[in-house]
Amino acid sequence: MSFVSISDIVVGPAWTSRESGRYSGRYPLAVERHALAQVGRLLPGVTTVTPHARYYSLHGLVAAETAGRSIGAAAAQRLVRRCEVVMGAISTLHHDPHPGMSRAHGSDRIGPALSGGAALNVAEVASSNVYAQADWGFWGPYLASEGLLGLVEWSGGLPGPGPELDVAAVRAGLGPLLDLAEQDRIDQAVLRDHKSLCLCGATHAPDGRMLQRRLLPSDARPMELGGRRSQTIRMVLRLLELSGGVRNPQRDLVPFLLYDPSTDDDPVLQDLEITPAWRGVALRTLSVEAWRNLWAWLVGQIAGCISLAELGDLLAGALPDGTLQSHLDDLPARSARGGDAGRVLAAEPAVNDRGDPERWLDVLLLGALRSDELPERVRSYFEGPMDHRERLTPSWLRGRVEEWRGRPLRDFAGFLAQQMVHRSQQIALSKSWFDRRQGQLRIPTRVYVRDGQVFRDGGEPGSGISLRWDTLTTVLAGVGWVERAEGLWRVTDECRAL
Ligand SMILES: [Zn+2]
Repeated sequence: MSFVSISDIVVGPAWTSRESGRYSGRYPLAVERHALAQVGRLLPGVTTVTPHARYYSLHGLVAAETAGRSIGAAAAQRLVRRCEVVMGAISTLHHDPHPGMSRAHGSDRIGPALSGGAALNVAEVASSNVYAQADWGFWGPYLASEGLLGLVEWSGGLPGPGPELDVAAVRAGLGPLLDLAEQDRIDQAVLRDHKSLCLCGATHAPDGRMLQRRLLPSDARPMELGGRRSQTIRMVLRLLELSGGVRNPQRDLVPFLLYDPSTDDDPVLQDLEITPAWRGVALRTLSVEAWRNLWAWLVGQIAGCISLAELGDLLAGALPDGTLQSHLDDLPARSARGGDAGRVLAAEPAVNDRGDPERWLDVLLLGALRSDELPERVRSYFEGPMDHRERLTPSWLRGRVEEWRGRPLRDFAGFLAQQMVHRSQQIALSKSWFDRRQGQLRIPTRVYVRDGQVFRDGGEPGSGISLRWDTLTTVLAGVGWVERAEGLWRVTDECRAL
């Protein structure tokens, strides 16, 4: 028999804290879920926090050593931290950062430790809370990706070699790192002599070859895990090649993939089953970004407290007069007619020079109208099967457009403002939790409603979400398939030979 004690009901003496329990939530409207889930599905093994290919090899090496030497967690942590510090120092001395890349992990602490030509104090920089806060150094961000690539397997809190790790290759590529990591001090001349252990050194090293084989396995089925990754990689490389090079992969390649006619006619892209999937996800991210920007604008309008109706009026007042239908008639064409009927046209970029917030509303309306026009293979990635039931999705908005067609656009805007506020409160409450230590309900929101009045604690950042193409590009640079020259990412000759 179990008893309920008083401490189960009354939590702590400070349960009526007067402090606000609100804090900034990351996804206030939760409009990102579908797109983020699809990005993870289409590109497993690379995330926004895994920019450097060579850390995959480094962790594979340490995992193999941990198992081979039968060492425990403390010794494995010491080994990976020392190896990461030495590789970080070699990379910092070679180039910090390498062109187009982010800096080596921990280089903000490793760099200063080398200033004035000082020898690297491995023991000190690798100790707790110096170059990295976490016990396992920078392994954490790579852990899931390395598992998906089959390079590292964790068991009982210890890393071991994964089924796809070529231990001989990582030893051949990075082996000298193990000896250097055992030294407490290393002269800079020695670090410079070991340039082959740099972040950029995998391009012609055996561990880089192994990573290439994992990224583009020859036996992968198209839409299984490794196949999706390799199809995505082939697509991004092909887009880079067709575009002639770009400054910023996601920013520049998304419009290229969506709107450039050469991508429709290209046999390589046509052959890849993943191309329509990415078109759907990329189109959806335009709507996601538009909701986030519209919400950021709306929250920015809240000064002190304001009624929900007044907030709606502020959005309405920033939009043109006329009916929703007349506004829809004024939107640019979404798809081609005639010979290449159905091809997506650059309607979203065309409304971008309209002022704020109209341009975001227009992108949303375009997304809503596209929701029942896209080819099946694009549409199934643009929206999930249940999206029409959820507020602020393209097909939900499509349904509302039908209801509001004949009425004033400004009234429609007022309705949308209300829907956004309701949605934000619904999401905040669904993510709220009780902090037993503080005796407080914690609610992730910057905006709150009481008695029909809307208040805010701070602004919302707005902006888009990541497709992970930018980090994918730097990972591909790490294995020698792309390079940054004259400010542009381009594919290398080695990559063209693939
Ligand atoms: Zn380098």
